[in-house]
Amino acid sequence: MKSQDIAQRWISFFEARGHTAVPSASLVSSDPSLLFTVAGMVPFIPYLTAVEPAPYPRATSVQKCIRTADIEEVGQTARHGTFFQMAGNFSFGDYFKEGAITFAWELLTTPQDQGGFGLDPERLWVTVYEDGDEKDEEARRIWEDKIGVPTERVVGTGKADNYWNTGQPGPGGPCSEIYYDRGAAYGLEGGPAVDETRYIEIWNLVFMQYQLSAVRSKTDFDVAGELPQRNIDTGLGLERLAMILQGVENIYETDQVRPVLDRAAEMAGKAYTGTEDPADPHHADDVRLRVVGDHIRSSLMLISDGVTPSNEGRGYVLRRLIRRAVRAMRLLGVEEPVLPVLLPVSRDAMKGVYPVVETDFERIARVAYAEERSFLRTIASGTARLEEALEGAKAAGTPLSGADAFSLHDTYGFPIDLTLEIAGEAGLAVDREQFTALMEEQRQRAKKDAKAKKTGHADLTVYRELHEAGDTHFTGYDELSTESAVRG
Ligand code: ATP
Ligand code: MG
Ligand code: MG
Ligand code: MG
Repeated sequence: MKSQDIAQRWISFFEARGHTAVPSASLVSSDPSLLFTVAGMVPFIPYLTAVEPAPYPRATSVQKCIRTADIEEVGQTARHGTFFQMAGNFSFGDYFKEGAITFAWELLTTPQDQGGFGLDPERLWVTVYEDGDEKDEEARRIWEDKIGVPTERVVGTGKADNYWNTGQPGPGGPCSEIYYDRGAAYGLEGGPAVDETRYIEIWNLVFMQYQLSAVRSKTDFDVAGELPQRNIDTGLGLERLAMILQGVENIYETDQVRPVLDRAAEMAGKAYTGTEDPADPHHADDVRLRVVGDHIRSSLMLISDGVTPSNEGRGYVLRRLIRRAVRAMRLLGVEEPVLPVLLPVSRDAMKGVYPVVETDFERIARVAYAEERSFLRTIASGTARLEEALEGAKAAGTPLSGADAFSLHDTYGFPIDLTLEIAGEAGLAVDREQFTALMEEQRQRAKKDAKAKKTGHADLTVYRELHEAGDTHFTGYDELSTESAVRG
């Protein structure tokens, strides 16, 4: 089943059950405290928090999402994209746990010729909230007694994994997740608490039930009482379900991403092998191809929603995605511009669901190609400077100084991994300790600046997601494998 058909089937199923179909909102979140729309519930926040009365008791959507916090996972796990689509159903004071669980099970397990997705019920595991003495016994009883899932496949997990709250006083409540067992070839037996690679999380059900009076951390809060209006918020990863229904190994091999990956492999003259095993010699190249497939699509979708590259906020995320994709292609041996080849492939894979990527393609392409050209110029001029510095270091018999590496990175936007690679080829080490120290100093400065600015500009809270991702510098470039090392 194609991704587009999965989305349509989702919407029809919930429409037939009294839900109002709501089109996807923009990736640029309407909630000023978020950089991007990170979940299907974001456009419904005013209704879920009862700030505004909901115009309908039930809603359903397939929402475009960006999660920059997952960027390091892309290509490494089977299941994390920076862009993905979250299918959801929502109840605003209407049905609650039993309704949500029953709908989810019915949709997943009803045969495909009868309107469902036809998953084998034996492969499904679920979690319910259980933390010490606190247990969501109501959810467990529904799963076991009403649906008939055997006790051993209903796993209790605690606050860290299975409790939703906003981080502030307000609504909160237990979750229940649905996992798909990919089989013994993918990892250890024993359920999702043991192995989240073999058991893939596909659907998260949130039961908004309590009013929280104090939230000290994700796992430490006080419950003041029941909410006057109990809500349901659910989210299923469309790409994850597509991966199962299309019988492929990961979300990058599904129909909306795979064409880009294949075209990238062709450009590089590499055969994509699909390995997930880091010990496999093809792994590094496969990860790069998966990163390219993911990042090209994310860039297309971000530009189509009005984001343009810049050195801060949303624009910086886009810049980073484009540069990472270009850099991954260089590591695969392709040095000429890649976006003019790959972006149209991504457009063609996405236009069925999002016609605007075709009708607005001229503008989208202009923005994207200009960014790649500017990055390639950066690389070219940086390489000349680096070669000078390398000659100096060679003559002096020292490693390349951290200050040189830092100035290349900071002033010229020249990626540190490229410095390491070219220095390595010239037989020279780089003083990475000094480089890291200088990066850290710069990070502290940026933090101070951001704090100082915050007093003047309330909307700087849009940086929240960046900070959460551990990303506090707004210039420069991060690469695939040495990134965490240089970030410290
Ligand atoms: P995981 O634990 O696998 O990272 P999650 O618990 O962070 O997932 P939720 O916040 O519960 O994910 O989001 C709801 C659903 O959206 C998930 O069950 C999953 O199917 C999907 N999803 C979440 N993050 C991603 C992602 N980065 N790429 C693709 N799908 C995702
Ligand atoms: Mg996650
Ligand atoms: Mg999870
Ligand atoms: Mg989850």
